[in-house]
Amino acid sequence: MNFNSRRRIEQPPPKRDFYYVFGGPGAGKGTICARLAHDLGLLHVCVGDLLRDDPDLNEMEDAMREGKLVPNYVVANALGRELSKTTGPVLLDGFPRSQDQMMMFQHDFCPPKYALYFSCDDKTMERRVLDRAQESNRVDDNVETFCKRCIQFETDTLPCIQSMKGIGRLIEFDCSGDLDEVYDDIKSKLEQLMNWDGLEIMSFSGWLSDSR
Ligand code: AMP
Repeated sequence: MNFNSRRRIEQPPPKRDFYYVFGGPGAGKGTICARLAHDLGLLHVCVGDLLRDDPDLNEMEDAMREGKLVPNYVVANALGRELSKTTGPVLLDGFPRSQDQMMMFQHDFCPPKYALYFSCDDKTMERRVLDRAQESNRVDDNVETFCKRCIQFETDTLPCIQSMKGIGRLIEFDCSGDLDEVYDDIKSKLEQLMNWDGLEIMSFSGWLSDSR
């Protein structure tokens, strides 16, 4: 993993179950992960929030405004710091966003137990981002940055999704409709995954045929 080698993760976290959470801007990642964390007792780590709370936010805002990824060493440090303070299973909301990040995580931490992909059509995502813009004060909640973020997602993040699908570790949920309606399905499948010890691969493989 090339961190631009300015800094390394200072303190690796203890071993635990990780779930990658993928989805484009406005797909519903934050909303759904917050509910899952509350209902299933997981830790919800939203990498975007960690970055927005970072004291060096000013340095990152240009990248966010341009719909670009912030440098990997910044993400690695923010994530490493957060994970080292906590224990228990984790939903990684918005991570990894590139194959570099995925390789870094799997090398320095461990492979994820599973990955969730909240897919959504572009029009719905755009509407949700613009609705959120009314209150969010985020530099990236506008049409121009939304379009750039969609391109970033397709270029950098879709290959991660394809890799996870290729190894049979991805479940996709269509989040284009009412999120309340898809939520129960996501919750019950994640609950089963959390109890899954790796021996029941046959019963889980049925879900994968639902994935596009
Ligand atoms: P989000 O809060 O997930 O919508 O992310 C907002 C912005 O934060 C992204 O467009 C990126 O600029 C930055 N960001 C969030 N997660 C990551 C990540 N894993 N790697 C790099 N940049 C990220």
